[in-house]
Amino acid sequence: AGTRATSQVYDTTDEFVAMADGQPQLEKATFIMLVRNSEVHDARSSIRYVEDRFNKNFHYPWLFLNDRPFSQEFIRMTRVLVSGNATYGQIPKEAWSMPDWVDRQKARECMKDMANRNILYGGSESYRHMCRFFSGFFWRHELLANYDYYWRVEPNTQLYCDLTYDPFTFMRENNKTYGFTINLLEFASTIESLWPTVQNFSSEHPEYIHQNNSLDFVVDDHKSITEGSYNNCHYWSNFEIASLKFFRSQPYRDFFDALDQTGGFYYERWGDAPVHSLAVSIMLDKEEIHWFYDIGYRHHPFTHCPEPREEFHDSGKCYCNPRQNFDRNPYSCTKQYQRMRGDSGSPEHVPRMS
Ligand code: GDP
Ligand code: MN
Repeated sequence: AGTRATSQVYDTTDEFVAMADGQPQLEKATFIMLVRNSEVHDARSSIRYVEDRFNKNFHYPWLFLNDRPFSQEFIRMTRVLVSGNATYGQIPKEAWSMPDWVDRQKARECMKDMANRNILYGGSESYRHMCRFFSGFFWRHELLANYDYYWRVEPNTQLYCDLTYDPFTFMRENNKTYGFTINLLEFASTIESLWPTVQNFSSEHPEYIHQNNSLDFVVDDHKSITEGSYNNCHYWSNFEIASLKFFRSQPYRDFFDALDQTGGFYYERWGDAPVHSLAVSIMLDKEEIHWFYDIGYRHHPFTHCPEPREEFHDSGKCYCNPRQNFDRNPYSCTKQYQRMRGDSGSPEHVPRMS
């Protein structure tokens, strides 16, 4: 492993190639986990994966968020596993409730109808609060004020590869804004009016559409926002390494407000994943989006496992089964992603799909 002025690298024997003072220079970055007290054991498992594969060598802080107060038990059981500081925050009411312009009666009927149609989480109001929170509020939380980047971690997720560099430093040095590991198709029945809403927003704010956007990830046949329809591809947001500055920016705020005004988070069941994905696909330079191909990751029921043997498996870096790699699954959007990336300029290790 080599050294650079601003990043720390440790070699596979776990020895730091440290800076002069011997301390890794941390980015303004934190893990965030939204979690319920009842999920404490699943939370502990995820923390342990992240610490073992990466953070034991870096000691980034953890921020735990909850719509209710954390129990002493939750705090006690998680604090002992983190190698950085742990902070426990509660979500303010307005960030976890229906805004007053949403018609309560209509929302209730929509939820009942979606539950009857067996749509995943179709009948759940709290799930909708969660999706709206991750779309429009987590980045406003006061406990995130001093950070530029976050890594979202969910309870009961797994990491399978040693991370031998600081992904936050990677993001900053390479001008990356949004990083993911898995992309896939959304259930169309949860987002029926999301695309028309995005189309309206785009025609009202043509100045927000980036010249070098990645629209080709979310719209087929190289069509424009006006002409095309959403192909339902999105980055799976249960894993994200991303810039808070982007979410705090005026374009994203206006984007969220335009969506929120329609009540679609409640009348339908818009997920934060398609919301984030559409925003970054339209408003960012495609070069700002990064596939952390090298991070083996599982959130039930899908796994991303890096495939090239020499780099990831023969070396002992990863221990997932490449045959379980979701990238080749028909529900994966890897084809659309690669189409969008084109052939040139990709810094990431993305093997060709046959
Ligand atoms: P799925 O991954 O879409 O199936 O949804 P999850 O049930 O995993 O929820 C996504 C994230 O939000 C997880 O980190 C959950 O712990 C968290 N979450 C979901 N609902 C609630 C809730 O009502 N309260 C709290 N505190 N966290 C929640
Ligand atoms: Mn989950």
